[in-house]
Amino acid sequence: MNFEQLGLIKPILDALKVQGYEQPTPIQEKAIPSILQKKDLLGSAQTGTGKTAAFAIPILQNLSEKEQHKNQIKALILTPTRELAIQIEENFKAYSKNLKLKSLVIFGGVKQHQQEQQVKKGVDILIATPGRLLDFISQGIIKLHHLEIFVLDEADRMLDMGFVHDVKRILKLIPAKRQNLFFSATMPKEIAKLASEILVNPVKVEVAPVSSTADTIQQSIYFVEKDNKPDLLIHLLQDQKLDQVLVFSRTKHGADKIARKLHQSKISAEAIHGNKSQNARQNALNNFKSKKTRVLVATDIAARGIDIDELKYVVNYELSDVSETYVHRIGRTGRAGSEGTSFSFVDGLDLANLRNTEKLIGKKIPVVTDHPYHTNDLVEQKRDSNNKPFIPRPKPQQKADIGFKKPKNKGFFRKK
Ligand code: AMP
Repeated sequence: MNFEQLGLIKPILDALKVQGYEQPTPIQEKAIPSILQKKDLLGSAQTGTGKTAAFAIPILQNLSEKEQHKNQIKALILTPTRELAIQIEENFKAYSKNLKLKSLVIFGGVKQHQQEQQVKKGVDILIATPGRLLDFISQGIIKLHHLEIFVLDEADRMLDMGFVHDVKRILKLIPAKRQNLFFSATMPKEIAKLASEILVNPVKVEVAPVSSTADTIQQSIYFVEKDNKPDLLIHLLQDQKLDQVLVFSRTKHGADKIARKLHQSKISAEAIHGNKSQNARQNALNNFKSKKTRVLVATDIAARGIDIDELKYVVNYELSDVSETYVHRIGRTGRAGSEGTSFSFVDGLDLANLRNTEKLIGKKIPVVTDHPYHTNDLVEQKRDSNNKPFIPRPKPQQKADIGFKKPKNKGFFRKK
């Protein structure tokens, strides 16, 4: 199957060629024809599958054939994070370079003036995070009465981040008659319910369930004591082949600490997490993309959706308690079939998570022993919610049984 066979128009085909896309990914092959026919769609797919193009391409084609409501918002894409929003807009811009459709991205955390000015110039396709969109609607800056297509991206992440209420408010503010496209990496009950409230007779498309890790990613485990993790990372980075490395840290504080340690060893590194301003995050991401910085240390939320073409190396500095996170993390590399390598550092606190992760992905991850910090002596420990070793509280001593039986008459102790 190629893009021509999907019935795409020449301006889009030409733009895809410029992007170097040779053939559609499975989700594109399945979703594009239905979206072109203006059907609702329920897509079960994570980032890295080519899902953005799967909805962006047919939306562009359908809107390019319309004469009415030029420069008015006809498609809205809601997405949970600013990074994702920016990336989606970059995709729309790339695929529409030969069309006369305007796309724009708006998100919170930065002053609104510039975004407001751009909205006023006219927009056909709006990509937004929920908070900023509601802000603009309530100020009368954005009107959605010509909306025809509504896309909810990363619905499960919307739920995680507490945006579902905002999404429901937005749904009440848009025309009832519209095409709906709903994407989620996982389908917990609450998400399935939300989908059923939004979609009408949807076509269902499912690709690469979250438990599968791409075969093109070479995965490895390093058993290491916690205190040796910084040195192990520096040791791995002595290999200059690792020129662009994304390191995952469980905590914001941990991310800063890792970046500092790398700096001390003259390795360029920056950290991104929720405590940094939007501008600082975007700058760090740009520096990493352009390879000005060699290592980007990120927390899971900050890294979700980071899309770097040809990122080859991912380090899990710790394993997450949520096994699916492993799949999402290493999915940053080996995207759309290219090759990638992941290194996971496992100490006593990570052992239980390693077991659960291997259960989820259904395979054992090979252990690398050939490094100076290898240990066979890890002892399994649990973490508490602060990422510290969990120390169980001593159980209260059982009261001695003195043979006293509570009377059955409940009124026995009541004062008269
Ligand atoms: P996504 O799942 O939308 O985050 O896309 C993952 C990556 O795959 C992005 O870098 C896209 O540019 C790339 N991509 C999307 N579709 C194709 C395709 N048909 N061929 C090659 N790369 C693609």
